[in-house]
Amino acid sequence: MNKQEMNKEDLPGLYVHVPFCKTKCPYCDFCSITDTSLVASWLEGVEREVIAWGREGFSTFDTLYIGGGTPSLLGKGEFEQLMGILRNGFSFAPDAEVTVEVNPDDVTPSLLSCYMALGINRLSVGVQSLQEEELRFLQRRHTAARAQRAIELIRSSGFDNFGVDLMYGFQGQTKKSWADSLDRVLSWAPPHLSCYQLTLSEGTPFGRLASEGKLRRCTEEQGRRFFTYTSNFLQDHGFAHYEVSNFAKREGLFSRHNQKYWQRTPYLGIGPAAHSFRYNQRWWNTGSVGDYCRLLREGRLPVAGQERLSPEQERLERLMLGFRTGKGVDIDDIIGRSSGREVLGRLSSSGIVRIEGKRVSPTLYGYLIADRLPLIFLN
Ligand code: SF4
Repeated sequence: MNKQEMNKEDLPGLYVHVPFCKTKCPYCDFCSITDTSLVASWLEGVEREVIAWGREGFSTFDTLYIGGGTPSLLGKGEFEQLMGILRNGFSFAPDAEVTVEVNPDDVTPSLLSCYMALGINRLSVGVQSLQEEELRFLQRRHTAARAQRAIELIRSSGFDNFGVDLMYGFQGQTKKSWADSLDRVLSWAPPHLSCYQLTLSEGTPFGRLASEGKLRRCTEEQGRRFFTYTSNFLQDHGFAHYEVSNFAKREGLFSRHNQKYWQRTPYLGIGPAAHSFRYNQRWWNTGSVGDYCRLLREGRLPVAGQERLSPEQERLERLMLGFRTGKGVDIDDIIGRSSGREVLGRLSSSGIVRIEGKRVSPTLYGYLIADRLPLIFLN
């Protein structure tokens, strides 16, 4: 695809990574540090990076996603400075979706009115669980009551579009406690929900405990049960299960920004560890906050790696990403191979995929093996 071929749906998305957290959760392998004395240097780095990319011809963005880390720990002055840098350096569509990730503990009326005044129109709230014991186990900063209060404040401040993040599949959680958390979250009538299975990644305190046998991992069967319960329950309550881990009340409430990742629309990532994609090329920034600031001070881009995808890699990627979503994949990407039609017939009659016109999308059972589906078609 070249620049001339881009139409409105292809407008790029902008991601900004705020690599700071007040405390580090023991399961987290995201790029985030607790040394907030680096916020000012990071903001200087962001400004330099924005100016550098502003010259590189990214067209108007129609989504901005400020994630982390914990963007809501930025003070109002810092957040205003960040938004000023972004709006000076780039242009945004008038109806751009502008999301900020927030920690329930940080949500106050004055923070929300600052966000509102700066054009933020969507919030993603990291609730994770509504069981006090589970929140303590996960070492989250907030309590269930604080999460509920945050949602009340969000609603009364006029934010209609918000999402709640929840987690399942960790030691001590039961089907009953998960069902109770889901019930209580639904009483808030959230427009969007993300439900992720906890992964115990190597290099995290929880990952180490698991490899020493001191922390139980969720088995595949337990994960499957949590997943199917969640999907059935939320669909029964009117949610569309539009991506493996994501649910929304209607299509207009799907995360427009995240869909760019799944549909391979160009996006630019600013900040440490941020990833970018354009014209079959991917590149990613260094995950070290110190190196990020230093490289930009030296007049260099903080890019740590890049790759150019071959047509075959692109096809595999279209299948990998497409099978994670309700929109599925283009049938031509599957039946391009002689065995594709036969495999498609088998998976469709076993209820793993459904075929509608030229689209092949995963069923609930297909979602369960979404990562394996591309390989089944390619082998
Ligand atoms: S708040 Fe989020 S980004 Fe920060 S340490 Fe916890 S899980 Fe990681």
